[in-house]
Amino acid sequence: MAEGGQDLKFDFEFMKILLETGIDNCWPRFTNLIVDISDGELTWKRIYQTSDSHTESQMLDDKEFKAKFKVEEDKADKITDTEKTKKTDKAEKVDKTEMVIKAEKVGKAEKVDKTEKVDKTEKVDKTENVDKAEKIDKPEEVDIILTSNYSPCRECAVKLIDFYEEKKSLIRNFTIRFSRLYRITEQENKDGLKDLNRAGNSAGITLEAMTEKSWFNVLMTDNSWLDSMSTQQKSSFEKMMNEKDCFDKVMKLFGLVPNKVKQRDAATSKDLTDLLAQDKKTQDSRLKQIIS
Ligand SMILES: [Zn+2]
Repeated sequence: MAEGGQDLKFDFEFMKILLETGIDNCWPRFTNLIVDISDGELTWKRIYQTSDSHTESQMLDDKEFKAKFKVEEDKADKITDTEKTKKTDKAEKVDKTEMVIKAEKVGKAEKVDKTEKVDKTEKVDKTENVDKAEKIDKPEEVDIILTSNYSPCRECAVKLIDFYEEKKSLIRNFTIRFSRLYRITEQENKDGLKDLNRAGNSAGITLEAMTEKSWFNVLMTDNSWLDSMSTQQKSSFEKMMNEKDCFDKVMKLFGLVPNKVKQRDAATSKDLTDLLAQDKKTQDSRLKQIIS
């Protein structure tokens, strides 16, 4: 398990902050952030907590995080080079074929001309198909999941959009999940989330409230938060995970009322949906103004 910049540990307390933010007036003064980067299987994970700078900024400035994308970029460059070589090969082949056809054309009737045109059309079709096939599931693309107790503030939203715009050829899905919207009565934070959502409209950024399923993913993919617990607690947790109402049981283990966690997540989901719907309305009315 990777650790954050301040000798942070993904322990019970770190996890508890994520789970309880926004319940019974619990508003921690800092943000806990988990970053997962995966290319099918989990390849990189790191945690951050607000210090002098916000967690998203810490992540974007983190040498290891940057290096992760440098590595992916290098892989992408190699693939692009291979594609270029392939294309050059294809182009040469077409050139040669044309020369042969042209040579044959000398002294021959117009029919050859038509054949040449058909040939070219077929070749273009084939090249396009090959290109499309190669673009699907490029091995260098990754999924990024940010899990945090607060949504990004305006300033961090801008930085995340810049990062996404620069690296989007390497990113398949960029998911940002949170327990609660951060200081959402402030207009600039509303604008930040709307901008993030707009940046993702074309492809990749998804904003989401946490759900039972996403909590489970966090708790299951890395259970090193169990390390700080007693052997007895650990074994009782492992037993719980196989039981029917395991979500409720695990929440109780964290000292939380399961329904309050579910209600908080539902409220966050509604607040987010309403906020982004407002944005859609504004955009639609702007568009109507332009048209009329
Ligand atoms: Zn921030």
